[in-house]
Amino acid sequence: MNVKKVLVKKAKKEFVKELDREVTVSKPGIYYVDSLDRDYHTEYGIIKKKDLLKKDGSRIRSNLGKEFYIFSPSFIDKYRKIKRSAQIIPLKDAAFIIAETGINAESTVVDAGAGSAALACFLAHIVKRVVTYEIRDDFYEISRENIELLGLKNLALKKKDVYKGIDEKHVDLVTLDLPEPWKAIISASKALRPGGFLVAYNPSITQITDFVNELRKHDDFDLAKVAELIERNWEVDGRKVRPKTHPIGHSGFLVFARKLR
Ligand code: SAH
Repeated sequence: MNVKKVLVKKAKKEFVKELDREVTVSKPGIYYVDSLDRDYHTEYGIIKKKDLLKKDGSRIRSNLGKEFYIFSPSFIDKYRKIKRSAQIIPLKDAAFIIAETGINAESTVVDAGAGSAALACFLAHIVKRVVTYEIRDDFYEISRENIELLGLKNLALKKKDVYKGIDEKHVDLVTLDLPEPWKAIISASKALRPGGFLVAYNPSITQITDFVNELRKHDDFDLAKVAELIERNWEVDGRKVRPKTHPIGHSGFLVFARKLR
């Protein structure tokens, strides 16, 4: 979806005397508007087309009198609405990769497989250049659309098998999110600069085990860390403060290794 505007509806709370506390009478919401050529429909009423053109920070009302704030989308708003094919990497894990490897505006990254290019796009938003490899035509096409939608000029998509090799040299980070990451260790080894990072992300611990056991056979890598990140969201409603009832499920495990020479 090409997000043109973001609408935010704040939660509405009212004090209920009988309960002696505030209760939520209207739920919060965030809406991504993909066309400015027509009225926008929400479950809280219709926002008129002309109101969608109001300047950032304007407070507007639906035909049912509900209040919304409007602003232009940031990268993250557009990112959240990209097309998804295979399971994309969640934000918590993408952020962990950035934090642990310290990549920045000077870094070059090689990523495989592209999938929906979610991780590749997130990294390209932070670093100097990303090259992402994908073997399947259908995923290649989805990735291409997402990269174009986000307007990332520093992200190159290649229709290539990463197990067979990586063209780039002296890269700072190689990220692997594919079924048999151990098959890409030699490719990654040739592409990475000394001190660079190899990161494998996998939903299954048996894949991680195979990857780590294979990695240990390569003396040009040092295993730095195997980790899983768990995100638990909380509800804060007056003094009713507790973890949300629906936990966020398992995503994947991460292996971090350092290229030594
Ligand atoms: N990290 C991606 C999701 C990757 S899904 C995201 O955040 O969107 C895994 C992808 O790896 C699939 O699209 C699959 O086709 C691709 N793949 C599998 N083996 C590959 C290989 N040898 N070389 C390149 N891509 C590969």
